[in-house]
Amino acid sequence: MVGAGLAGLAAARDLSLAGVDVLVLEARDRPGGRVEQVAIDDGRRIQLGGEIVGTFHTAYKDLVAELGLTIGPTFTESEGQATWVLSGNRFVGADLPWMTAEDRRCYDRIEQEFAGLAGTVDHDDPWSHPDAVALDRISLGQWLRDRGATVDVVRALELAHLALAVESVEHSSLLAVLRKESAAGAAGFYDYDAWENERVVEGSATVALRMADQLGDRIRYGAVVSGVRVERARVDVELASGERLSASDVVMAVPAGPLRDIRITGVSDEKLSSLWQQKHAMAAKFVAVYRDSFWERAKLDGTSFMEHNILGGTWAQGNGVLSGLVPPGRIGAYLATPAHLREQDLVDELVTAFGPEAAQPLGAFTRSWATDPYTQGYVTAWRPGDLTAVGPLHGKHEPPFYVCGSDQWVAGYMEGAVRTGRSTAQTLLHAN
Ligand SMILES: Cc1cc2nc3c(=O)[nH]c(=O)nc-3n(C[C@H](O)[C@H](O)[C@H](O)COP(=O)(O)OP(=O)(O)OC[C@H]3O[C@@H](n4cnc5c(N)ncnc54)[C@H](O)[C@@H]3O)c2cc1C
Repeated sequence: MVGAGLAGLAAARDLSLAGVDVLVLEARDRPGGRVEQVAIDDGRRIQLGGEIVGTFHTAYKDLVAELGLTIGPTFTESEGQATWVLSGNRFVGADLPWMTAEDRRCYDRIEQEFAGLAGTVDHDDPWSHPDAVALDRISLGQWLRDRGATVDVVRALELAHLALAVESVEHSSLLAVLRKESAAGAAGFYDYDAWENERVVEGSATVALRMADQLGDRIRYGAVVSGVRVERARVDVELASGERLSASDVVMAVPAGPLRDIRITGVSDEKLSSLWQQKHAMAAKFVAVYRDSFWERAKLDGTSFMEHNILGGTWAQGNGVLSGLVPPGRIGAYLATPAHLREQDLVDELVTAFGPEAAQPLGAFTRSWATDPYTQGYVTAWRPGDLTAVGPLHGKHEPPFYVCGSDQWVAGYMEGAVRTGRSTAQTLLHAN
């Protein structure tokens, strides 16, 4: 197993419970990959990576239950309002408060059309759609304009993409966005109640830590895999240290970027070409910790949408904790800012959204996942044409070479990691 993120850990745990002799090779000195937490002095566990799940994230929640952890609600339960920091104006309100009545009618009409179209896409096989190539070639932004979207309807969707730190609507494949919402039930545009209404009370990184505890010394840390040679009945794995190991099968549970850094031979050109076409959205996460959730006193829920800042938006991670993301189009400006000034710039942005009380956090954390060599991004990005380029080999195995991880699912997410990890373990067990 290469990679001790949620996918690699979930796969290794299932294999090991089935009696298979598993070794997990992990480049970092900790488990969890894109889920990571730090504990602060008062006991709060601060999530610096993946944090929240949604109603239909059943593979993840089943695993959480097996590990004896607890699912609880998120900011979506808050009675407060969202904050919109738009072109010099600040608005407060849950439901796009800056839109005119005409914009809203247009938004609702186009959302219904989007839901209808999403319902025609098989999320497990979007390539089988009769218009797959055309739907993949066009951006969501262009499709919205073709359907008669007003400038503010496109703007609303762009604000949602900024807050999620995914690619702009102008750089997102329509087919990929339809596929993502088809996986969530094809009810409309991204719905926080479907994707972000639940979390692990003990901290999302605790899921990875529990699995790592169970696997014990079957995980080797600081083991950077640099080469994989697949032969008919065995696989040779080379570490950056020069050490060589052999196994009957190999499962690659690493993100798309680091996977490209590994020399792989003995796998078909088609499979490698598919893997190497996958892209990530670049992002950084920012977390500010306060004594309490002061924004609630102003009847706010901690959610913000930021049109022209470095942050794309924020949400309340938990009591007194605000999370925010720097989206792909702003990561350049973020990295161009000297490291010692970044945190203050982002705190200043929280002040524009939530007022002067945001100016004095007890602590703040920034985590640049985009520049981390073992992530090189954040979540899978599908630009126009990318789904066609990756093709139906997406997520498929070529035994004894197996792939899993959130990049091998429709749209990233911890659900994608656990779902593909566990199903890969089952496929491998049945093949042997
Ligand atoms: C800031 C941020 C916020 C997010 N928020 C959410 C959220 O709220 N909800 C949600 O569902 N998802 C969220 N995600 C996405 C989610 O965290 C990931 O999709 C998921 O955790 C990925 O799991 P994985 O096992 O597929 O990959 P990873 O967690 O990336 O694990 C891959 C592992 O492979 C290791 N590795 C890489 N290269 C090598 C090598 N050469 N040799 C050996 N090991 C290697 C890495 O160190 C890593 O441990 C977020 C991600 C980020 C970065």
